[in-house]
Amino acid sequence: MVVGSAMYEHGRKCWFCGSYGLSRLSDKRIWCGKCRKKYSLKKLQTDLRVLYYFYLEVSARKCAKELNANYKTVSARYAAYRNAIVKYTEQEFKKLHGKVEADESYFGGKRKGNRGRGAFNKKAVFGILERNGKVYTAVVENVSAKTLFKHIKKKTRKGSVFYTDDFKSYKDLKQYGKNSRIKHSKAFGRGHNHINGIEGFWSYAEERFHKYHGIKKKNYLPYIKEMEFRFNHRNEQLYPLLVDIKRQFAPKST
Ligand SMILES: [Zn+2]
Repeated sequence: MVVGSAMYEHGRKCWFCGSYGLSRLSDKRIWCGKCRKKYSLKKLQTDLRVLYYFYLEVSARKCAKELNANYKTVSARYAAYRNAIVKYTEQEFKKLHGKVEADESYFGGKRKGNRGRGAFNKKAVFGILERNGKVYTAVVENVSAKTLFKHIKKKTRKGSVFYTDDFKSYKDLKQYGKNSRIKHSKAFGRGHNHINGIEGFWSYAEERFHKYHGIKKKNYLPYIKEMEFRFNHRNEQLYPLLVDIKRQFAPKST
């Protein structure tokens, strides 16, 4: 059906080890002589179809409707794909360096009331973006200097140039590299002195978050990591990559 997974769906290539030369068992399952796994092509096809809807950012509810499948099953598959993406982002991560922008944002909670820093009932997310590179995100318990610097230290190379706004937590950031602190009101149209890159990512993520009403607070990480992944690979063929990620980190179809 879809390029990127056709070889597996038609049973030409083993889903688990990638070998050719599969046999069909009498119960219609597929058998691989190399890794000796037995599995149902039909289940795999359904699972990859669900993955395709996930790739298109169709909600689990709509996907279940389209495929005439059980919502809970589809929803569990979506969660498995997201967890696979979390593992993949850890594996592919390389320390950010050069010109990097750091900023925090808030997701979820009620729209009314306090917004921005310290907003009640919202989840704080810290983001670091390498200009012309990738973004890294982390769900954080608070936005103290101690918490944010822990991520800076682990995820960026020393000697990077940091662009931030004038939030107090960034005051001592210079211990990790040069720090350009920008007053928000003056943030635009000043050459290198801006954090438009990370702010672009926040709008990208927020637009998608609007679709997910009622994400439980403890579940934010996989969603934000999905946004990070989609953003970092936005210029690539995403579906074949998702198939590979699923094979590597969430191979089972039930
Ligand atoms: Zn195999």
